[in-house]
This record gives sequence, structure tokens and C-alpha cells, in this order.
Amino acid sequence: MLQDDIDSRCLVESITDDIETARLRQQHQATSGLAVEALPTVYRGTVFRSALEASWAATLDSLGLAWEYEPTTVTLPSGVRYIPDFHLPQIGVWLEVKGNGVPRVEKAIEYGQSLACDCPKFACTCRWIGGELVLIGHPPRSWMPDYDEDDHRSNWAKAITARNHGGHPRWTSTRGRAAWLAYCADCHHATWFDSPHCRACKRRLIGAEGLESGNQQIRFHRITGIAAPDNDTPAP
Ligand SMILES: [Zn+2]
Ligand SMILES: [Zn+2]
Repeated sequence: MLQDDIDSRCLVESITDDIETARLRQQHQATSGLAVEALPTVYRGTVFRSALEASWAATLDSLGLAWEYEPTTVTLPSGVRYIPDFHLPQIGVWLEVKGNGVPRVEKAIEYGQSLACDCPKFACTCRWIGGELVLIGHPPRSWMPDYDEDDHRSNWAKAITARNHGGHPRWTSTRGRAAWLAYCADCHHATWFDSPHCRACKRRLIGAEGLESGNQQIRFHRITGIAAPDNDTPAP
């Protein structure tokens, strides 16, 4: 388990989660052969369908964003029933987590289209600018030591960091345009921006000056549920 994960929550709580995860996975043996990412995982007492979902929950916690896991079932315009993975009530965002090899995102896309508002451009009066936003959360992008020009450590040190680094969160928007994850310089909330308006405080921000820090600085927090047997993290 990463040091950051231990720092970000109570150690006892994290051990309790790991024991419960191990118990659930034992029951899950019939479907063994699945990658860890796709195994049931307990985080902060909530049972997630996969380690990837639990990791997204931990990442949202690290951003200070409140989340609800599978809070509701919605009926889409096509009549299909759909349970979105996460609702982020502070910023009017829904997040559907999709692992590798699980390309089915039609429901999330339809949900995103159904929530987009019809206000004229630059004249949106909705509680959430543009309507509630539906995002698809993917497995993280790996941290790339060679791309960091300011990192002058040895390759050996970089390799260890790369292995223990959770990487960076990766997502796509169902609105068909880029969404930027950043901290608002005005209200200091972390939120996705796909317009110049902060989703948390609604203020219109001017370019990059409105952002405290963005995509590149935000880390993905991996929850694996069990310490990897070949974990080479030095003992604290
Ligand atoms: Zn609107
Ligand atoms: Zn703001």
C-alpha cells in the first residue's frame, strides 16, 4: 500500500478495509483470473465492484470532493435503467468508472446527453453551468519520469518512484469536449472545468490564472486492497 494512502486515512480503518477485501475476494474465487483492478475492494467501509472504483473514491477524497457511490437508479430517455457509479454533489458531476477491456459506455454517454442543458451559449442560468456533467473515469495514466525535466535523480530512483507513484487520473467527458481537472483559485475547490466557470462557485475565471494547479499536479491514489507480494517499498 502506498504511503500516501496510509497518510490520508486512519491506519486501523485501512487494515479493516483490507481484511474485508480479502474475505470478499476469497468468496470471489469462482471468477478468479480477473485482474486485481476488477476484483471487489473495500475502501472506507464501502464495497466497490473493483479496485479501480475504490481508487477513484480515494482520489476524489484526496481532492476534497464529496462522493456518493451508486446513489440512485435512473431511467434513460431510451427507457434503459442505469446506475451511475459516483455522484459528486458539490460540483454537479457524475462519474462512470470504466476499466480496460470494458468499453461499454453507451449508458453514461446517453445520461450525459440527457443532463446537458439547452441554454444559449454564455447565457446559462442553470444551477450547474451547462447542466450536470457526466464523466467517464479510466485507469490512471502512468507517471513518466523521463518527461519531468526538473527531476534530476538517478534512473534507479526514478524507477522506484514510478512504480510507487499512483500516476495521474484520466477521464473523458460525455459532452464531446475537453474537461480540465483543477483547483479554482477563487474558492479553492477541486473541480472539472469545461467552460470558463468554476462548477463549485460559478465564478468566471480568466485563463490559467484562475487555476491554482491542474491536471499535471493531481495524483491518482491507488487502492489495491492487499499489499503486492513483490512490493519493494522500504519499511517506514
Ligand atoms: Zn443551462
Ligand atoms: Zn470556484
